[in-house]
Amino acid sequence: MRDFGFRWTGTRTFVVSAAVIFLLLALFGALHPVVAFCSFLLLAGISATRLMVVGETMPIRLRAAEKTGMSDPNGRRALALVNRLPDPLIVFDEAGRVVLANEAAEALVGKAAPGRHVATVLRSAPLIAAIEAVTKDGIQRTIEYSIPVPVQRHYSAYVARVESGEAGAFPVTLALLRDVTEAHRVEAMRADFVAFASHELKTPLASLSGFIDTLRGHARDDAEAREKFLEIMADQANRMRRLIDDLLSLSRIELREHVRPSDAVNLLDVVGDVADALGPLLTEHGVALTIDTEPSLPLVLGDRDELTQVVQNLADNALRYGHSGKRIDIILGRAERSGKPMLRLTVRDYGPGIAKEYLPRLTERFYRVDVAESRARGGTGLGLAIVKHIVNRHQGVLSIESEVGAGASFSVMIPLAPETAQAG
Ligand code: ADP
Repeated sequence: MRDFGFRWTGTRTFVVSAAVIFLLLALFGALHPVVAFCSFLLLAGISATRLMVVGETMPIRLRAAEKTGMSDPNGRRALALVNRLPDPLIVFDEAGRVVLANEAAEALVGKAAPGRHVATVLRSAPLIAAIEAVTKDGIQRTIEYSIPVPVQRHYSAYVARVESGEAGAFPVTLALLRDVTEAHRVEAMRADFVAFASHELKTPLASLSGFIDTLRGHARDDAEAREKFLEIMADQANRMRRLIDDLLSLSRIELREHVRPSDAVNLLDVVGDVADALGPLLTEHGVALTIDTEPSLPLVLGDRDELTQVVQNLADNALRYGHSGKRIDIILGRAERSGKPMLRLTVRDYGPGIAKEYLPRLTERFYRVDVAESRARGGTGLGLAIVKHIVNRHQGVLSIESEVGAGASFSVMIPLAPETAQAG
């Protein structure tokens, strides 16, 4: 197939020859001048229409294939390959018109993009500018840009000029786009986390520095004030220690999150240990703890220290926020999830409960329903985030149910240890 411009040249020759013939016929009286002129107009009109129709109906993909040198069998195979790419790939000709958009790109530029100009199919000004610049100077570029609607998405685009070197194949500019929204989200979360953690540490640190100055200054000889300040300072130092401990726990768990734990753990023993450790605090708040279990409970596949932390954090919270209910139940029982045998542990309190709208966010790092209350009760805002990561590592499930005024119930399901471990 020939190029569009070449075909127009052929048509032009035909029209000019027809004009000369009709002129001669009119001059020699073979045709009436008006008839000759009308006949010429008719012929020229038909030629022009035919040219336009052929130009328009030639399959766009084929035209693209022709321009990019993909019309032979190898080229068609390459075209099929490009179509299977998971990332959007768009190819432009030298005039900036789309000659090819693979299937992944159709979601971005639409099915009708081929033939249209870059500026009318893409919405990002930096990307359009990069494509035009690469088409002009041939220097490849990688840029990042975002599209704000309908939901903000971030892309990384690699734009390069390709010259196949084959006769008849036009140089083209390709834009390979990669959706980097997820990477952006993770990066933003990491930055938020560092900011939150520093902020949480800064507050007790500022308080400690303030009291050190006071003790060095006007409270130097005031024994009573000194005692009071030292007590507050000890509290703040403890708060910093808890926060650092929780931050370290979280990073350790995250590092191991992809490694499945391999020990067979007796969860009832774990609950017993946690209950013993909580004894004095339960007495102090006048809270009764009941442990409800079924006989011959199977072992779970887990890491004992991490599972202790799960029970500890849930029981701590039940006591910290729900002690006004004067009762905490820990229930252990068999369960099943997608046909897989599990063990369910529920920590239930009868305190003020949590409003439904807060439930989905409770396991986010540093998320607290009431920051002042959490701080006053020694919370770090990381307890449930730690629980969630441990449960994920165990391939378990965490679920939270609560209603204002009706207490809260936190359940974790952990897969059982294999049969052989149960018997042993
Ligand atoms: P914190 O260190 O603040 O306790 P957590 O991640 O353990 O952090 O809990 C997050 C928030 O969830 C708490 O600040 C509290 O608002 C809420 N919460 C957790 N457990 C309970 C509960 N049993 N009853 C009411 N609110 C709770």
